Amino acid sequence: KISLDTVVKTFDTFRAVHGVSLEIESGELVALLGPSGSGKTTILRMVAGLEYADSGKIYFGAEDATDIPVRDRGVGFVFQHYALFPHMTVAENIAFGMKVSKVKRGKQEIAARVADLLRLVKLDGLGERFPSQISGGQRQRVALARALAVDPKVLLLDEPFGALDANVRRDLRRWLREIHDELGITTLFVTHDQEEALDLADRVVILKDGKIVQQGTPEEVCREPNSPFVMSFLGDTN
Ligand code: ATP
Repeated sequence: KISLDTVVKTFDTFRAVHGVSLEIESGELVALLGPSGSGKTTILRMVAGLEYADSGKIYFGAEDATDIPVRDRGVGFVFQHYALFPHMTVAENIAFGMKVSKVKRGKQEIAARVADLLRLVKLDGLGERFPSQISGGQRQRVALARALAVDPKVLLLDEPFGALDANVRRDLRRWLREIHDELGITTLFVTHDQEEALDLADRVVILKDGKIVQQGTPEEVCREPNSPFVMSFLGDTN
């Protein structure tokens, strides 16, 4: 379980996150949903340990996250523009995290695990291609395989399907849900796309100006939006 307790983050004089408190249960798939600039990415980066809160606390289980070095947090990331290494094949990209991990694995073990992950993300047979030789949707699946390669306890996804067209996004959503259900990894997902959040998440957390304005299951927030902002944001289907 991950908990945020009254987390504040200010950049110079601009307060990006205003006292956010949030709990993400183990195995849950939670979407942080909000317009551009609402603080979603900043929250994700603080959970990842790439950014520190000015005040408030983040806990992984009972442990204060500031006591856990980034590489020991058991976190895997996929970012929209977190490009694959272009000079490495798909298989080498997936293996990269395992090679630099402090969990030492032999060559054969790494190769076997890469093959398993390629099957999991339905890219069997494409391991020897380079990123430029596969589609954008396939690249994002490779990025996810790379994140999963180190057995993360938590998966952080920042607009992972942002740059792709609507049909591909829909397929990837379905597929991410399947993988999540199969592996049960606690997942925090950032998006500004309400359809994506409502379709994919167990729980949706809606942000505006660095504050949580509403949270609940997709059904709950759709049935009873608690403000004109939430109503118009959820209804905005562009
Ligand atoms: P988007 O969907 O556009 O990425 P977001 O909801 O993820 O938006 P954040 O990226 O968390 O929002 O940014 C929240 C606010 O904090 C924005 O106004 C942004 O300009 C500001 N901000 C974020 N990172 C920095 C930084 N390193 N320095 C200064 N300001 C920042």
